[in-house]
Amino acid sequence: MTDGITGAAAPEALEFEVPRVAGSGVAGLTPAPEMSREEHLAMVREGRLGSIHSWELVTAVDGPGSRMTLFMAGCPLRCLYCHNPDTMKMKDGEPVTLDAVMERILRYRGVFTASGGGLTISGGEPLMQPAFVKNVLAESKRHGIHTAIDTSGYLGSAMSDADLANLDLVLLDVKSGIPETYRALTGRDLQPTIDFGDRLARLERRVWVRFVLVPGHTDAPENIDAVARIVAQWPNVERLEVLPFHQMGRDKWETIGMTYQLDDVEPPSNDETEAVRQRFRDHGIPTVY
Ligand code: SF4
Repeated sequence: MTDGITGAAAPEALEFEVPRVAGSGVAGLTPAPEMSREEHLAMVREGRLGSIHSWELVTAVDGPGSRMTLFMAGCPLRCLYCHNPDTMKMKDGEPVTLDAVMERILRYRGVFTASGGGLTISGGEPLMQPAFVKNVLAESKRHGIHTAIDTSGYLGSAMSDADLANLDLVLLDVKSGIPETYRALTGRDLQPTIDFGDRLARLERRVWVRFVLVPGHTDAPENIDAVARIVAQWPNVERLEVLPFHQMGRDKWETIGMTYQLDDVEPPSNDETEAVRQRFRDHGIPTVY
């Protein structure tokens, strides 16, 4: 890649170290015990320690059924419309062990089974911490839990084909179909996402594509058509979700002292959003929401 981050080992991945106050932690997840820097780095390398922003139980979003969504800290993109900018930096997460995360996930096995749900790892960008995420996915599969990740695909090369076998579903964000627009919107290149999507298609993995409709940024007909042409190459895509931009993340940008550039952007109307969905359908793309 041209930007210096390779999929296999994002540099920040070994460097997060969060000073913790005794008794603090991501609610409901046991904080990692105190340890030396060497132990910390070794555990991160082995995928036994992750930097976690938060988690929640959700229904009918982030995949089928009721799901535990785990939000990892750290993301190589800087999407102008990000509604979770507080997940962008890995150092802002909380160190949590693999055991602590699995203990929480396994509590909801009954809920997952009853609802046809499972685990979704989101962020941030899950693949910023590939060793940890691979272990969580492998452990979850070992216990028969349905697994998904929500990813931009930018670091998709961090997942081997064998790793992908532990994933039941990939929620793949295609933020634009035009390289220049993608870069203006995210600060990164589009091609790694296409490469990851191509590989998922070759491997016949289940994919739901997500596209955020941002007036003035992603809503140009030529952009919709470009996204549609990319997605049309992937017969494994079961559906495309058009997600209308909203302003609910604005305050978080201010809170963390980052400049928010979309203050003046109005969310798209229902009619505008539906027209974009129809445009995707006209390309033969199964579109919901
Ligand atoms: S990929 Fe997601 S978490 Fe990362 S900046 Fe974009 S919207 Fe935010």
